[in-house]
Amino acid sequence: MANNGGYAMLIGGKLVGADQRFDVLNPATEQVLASAPDASEADLDAAVAAARAAQPAWAAKTMDERRAVLNAMGDAILANVDELKRLLTSEQGKPHHEAEGEVIGAGYWLKGAASLDLPREVVEDSAERRVETRRVPLGVVGAIAPWNFPLILAMFKVGPGLLTGNTMVLKPSPFTPLTTLRFAELVKDIVPAGVLNVITGGDRLGPWLTAHPGFDKISFTGSTATGRKVMESAAPRLKRITLELGGNDPAIVMPDVDVAEIAPKLFWAAFNNNGQICIATKRMYIHKDIYAPLRDAIVEYAKTVKVGDGSEQGTQIGPINNRAQYDRVKGLIADSRAQGHNIVLGGDAIEGPGYFIPVTIIDNPPETSRIVQEEQFGPVLPLLQFDNVEDVLARANASDYGLGGSVWSADTDRALAIAERVASGTVWVNETQALSPLAAFGGMRQSGVGVEGGREGLMEYTAAQTISVRKG
Ligand code: NAD
Repeated sequence: MANNGGYAMLIGGKLVGADQRFDVLNPATEQVLASAPDASEADLDAAVAAARAAQPAWAAKTMDERRAVLNAMGDAILANVDELKRLLTSEQGKPHHEAEGEVIGAGYWLKGAASLDLPREVVEDSAERRVETRRVPLGVVGAIAPWNFPLILAMFKVGPGLLTGNTMVLKPSPFTPLTTLRFAELVKDIVPAGVLNVITGGDRLGPWLTAHPGFDKISFTGSTATGRKVMESAAPRLKRITLELGGNDPAIVMPDVDVAEIAPKLFWAAFNNNGQICIATKRMYIHKDIYAPLRDAIVEYAKTVKVGDGSEQGTQIGPINNRAQYDRVKGLIADSRAQGHNIVLGGDAIEGPGYFIPVTIIDNPPETSRIVQEEQFGPVLPLLQFDNVEDVLARANASDYGLGGSVWSADTDRALAIAERVASGTVWVNETQALSPLAAFGGMRQSGVGVEGGREGLMEYTAAQTISVRKG
């Protein structure tokens, strides 16, 4: 398959095109990079049928056999890091070093997920009967991934979904389909035909997929607004769902931190991947005793960070991934300007081409402002002041979101005590965004339903089955 416009879907073990194709843009240049197949409903039917046909034989394999396939898929990613990272930068925008981190992480994520095990619980083993509860696969899983971390977030689903004996149809975002299609091509001969199918398409494909009667579960990562639609669409057939949705993560910075040392760490907590991370720090609460010096240190550090085309050496922050998100972030900055907030850095969009927004820092806007209350998902950070722990916890927790959060202090025990009171699915102390395939990750409230990762994440791809055997 040629790479120039020749990207193909993986259906039933074969690379296939579609009657229609759509363009994929490089967000740094707004130039067409390549095209991807625009799957029809018939293509979706074919992918579901292939997954359905392959499922019994895949489920009949042992866990160790499936582990071996996942490990080989991980190795295939790790053997092609350089190519995949360049492709990822070109369609997503992130700088090469970040793209490399994502690609390597995706390979290891599959291998990490492959090391997990499902529990078997003997509930009773008496003279009369033996009762055991085991976990069985759900069947066919529809997996939908977003554009901010297209490859690794897809692997969050592929690893546990396949390990547990399900087969899968994976749909990447139309903004970032290419790395996932290339991954599909790389694993085509590793994974048995039909076990993993990858299809791409425009805005129609996601709703078709979630409504398709051939799926037993939908695993979705994306915005809270779309997550609601996915949940609705799963209801008629009571499909199982896992929803990994948006966040508005607070960071709480205590007065005992070393200002100079912590400023770059806090900067990257918010601006890594251009702020386009579900678990980016999106509200930074700084104790009033260090507010001014820490604000100034973060701003000074931010001035040294190079924004540009992710494929150019030295770039630390790339463009926003797509026009809709670019317009949304610009809208939030315009709102802050209109409200008279003190924008201490950035603010004005950088002249195109490319969806570039400068690092923008807003000095202590009101708690009720849009930039504090909404998920910005871009390079704009509000810094906020607090003077006591009860107040900051109340503000941090007053959100419909509850995905992540972090507490920063020289006193780890004190920070831990505060972290335990942050009402989010993951809370970090003196670091942020560290995830593991062995740990449960998910959102509270409107940040999601269910978890990915760890044994709990694995269980979500299974049903409990109790077998009761009468003795004698
Ligand atoms: P999005 O909801 O717009 O799209 C996500 C995916 O859903 C894409 O593949 C899209 O094509 C598909 N889709 C769109 N409409 C659909 C519909 N009606 N039915 C089914 N599928 C549909 O999200 P996005 O803009 O790609 O991603 C950004 C959002 O994702 C942010 O809110 C971010 O916080 C969130 N996110 C969450 C996590 C997490 O693990 N919790 C991780 C990354 C991103």
